[in-house]
Amino acid sequence: MQHFLPQPSFKIPLFCVLLAWIACFPISADAYQPDRQPDFRPLSISALKKTTKQLKPINKVLGDPQPGQWLAHQKESGQSFSEYLRSRPLTLTPSRHTLYVQPIGKFDASQQEIIKLSSEYLSIYFSCPVKVLDPQSEKDIPATAKRIHPAQGNHQLLTSYLLEKQLAPKLPADAFALIAFTASDLWPGDGWNFVFGYASFRERVGVWSLSRFGDPANDAESFRRCLERTCKLATHETGHMFSIKHCTRYACNMQGSNSLQESDSQPVHLCPECHAKIIFATQADPVKRIDNLISFSQRHGLKQEIEFLQKAKKILDD
Ligand SMILES: [Zn+2]
Ligand SMILES: [Zn+2]
Repeated sequence: MQHFLPQPSFKIPLFCVLLAWIACFPISADAYQPDRQPDFRPLSISALKKTTKQLKPINKVLGDPQPGQWLAHQKESGQSFSEYLRSRPLTLTPSRHTLYVQPIGKFDASQQEIIKLSSEYLSIYFSCPVKVLDPQSEKDIPATAKRIHPAQGNHQLLTSYLLEKQLAPKLPADAFALIAFTASDLWPGDGWNFVFGYASFRERVGVWSLSRFGDPANDAESFRRCLERTCKLATHETGHMFSIKHCTRYACNMQGSNSLQESDSQPVHLCPECHAKIIFATQADPVKRIDNLISFSQRHGLKQEIEFLQKAKKILDD
């Protein structure tokens, strides 16, 4: 589910949205291709189950939730790899194989770089092509879908309008999903404070905001932190689009979170069960994927990931 920080008196979200038109629209030059060995063959279910077992020892099992954390308030039962397979999950297919990224509004040079790098990260994480579309102006968004937050005074865009009117009608025919990024803050309607992002998993469209992730132009550490947060949010929400439920057993990117602080304490990598789901859904080469994740993490300072990924690589290489 989407991450949010409602004020105590505000209602908790359920899900959103409808619609399904299919259309194509122009694509800009930025495109990221997955990297696979030419002779790679997708892993069988039994091979994935074996890998899941092998990866377990390097993963941290969650303890009891602390007050304020997601699982202290949400009753969720989790989802094993076997349960995932039984749920008839959405996967990449020969006709729906590409993730599209739609920038909405204005971005400064640092934010543009964050979107570019996050798109590359999505391509590695889900082992599929990612195409970045030409930016859409906020001028096309009507006044009824914009507001100034009554208490905080910041500019916000209405998520339901973006999903239903701007994204769903433009879902490209070969899209697995269409993801919008905006530098503006987001709110999902009356009674809401703000959301980090919102998605319709059924319609395979989502919008996520960079506005609460700090100013990446401040310094190198601010840039790194903003990139890590953006990569985490984008991959978590896209993971839901692959029918993955929240993780309740391990420290994992698919854990639910109730705040930026809680999200910051969670890893970007996947636990063994969620790793198996993603490899199954994308038919990825797990060794190539982990090599590419290590390379990206080293190049862009995602420090807390590198040690785990190198341990995982050692297991996958054997
Ligand atoms: Zn979620
Ligand atoms: Zn997990």
